[in-house]
Amino acid sequence: MEITAVQGDIAEQRVDAIVNAASNAMRGGGGVDGAIHRAGGPEILEDCVRRFPDGLATGDAGWTTAGRLHARWVIHVVGPNRTAGQTDRGLLLSCYSRALAVADELGAVTVAFPLVSAGVYGWPKDDTIACALEVFGSVETSVAEARLVAFDGPTYAMVQKALG
Ligand code: ADP
Repeated sequence: MEITAVQGDIAEQRVDAIVNAASNAMRGGGGVDGAIHRAGGPEILEDCVRRFPDGLATGDAGWTTAGRLHARWVIHVVGPNRTAGQTDRGLLLSCYSRALAVADELGAVTVAFPLVSAGVYGWPKDDTIACALEVFGSVETSVAEARLVAFDGPTYAMVQKALG
């Protein structure tokens, strides 16, 4: 699997599947979640409600339509909310590995990932990047490209440095 990095808006990525940093309820929010729902339209939320009436557990992943996005699917993950006291790193690793497992189920070959939990959920960005790279470097998957999307320049520089 090739690991790539770009700076930009995750909702604009031309990939098979976009990973969303969702909340347990899966009923929309800010940050990555807001950008994806805004750009993809109401179909995504409708599909969340239909397919996930009880939402999603922290560390887990599940897919919906991507609505109007270029991507075909959105793979929703729920990262640990460090700001609320969730400090289990395993849950963050699980977001990345479960997202890849769901991508494999779907047959998604190119997948764009945000820095899960590294926004309002308060996880240190460098450790989110480390978690993503740990998983990308160790799991068996048919995904050919895992693209880490950094929103701003300094974060993009951190990702590039971590990639070596
Ligand atoms: P969480 O609630 O899991 O912390 P956030 O969406 O608040 O998720 O933020 C996760 C990371 O994504 C942060 O580093 C944030 O700066 C970044 N981010 C916010 N909006 C976008 C976007 N549209 N595209 C890519 N990254 C984004």
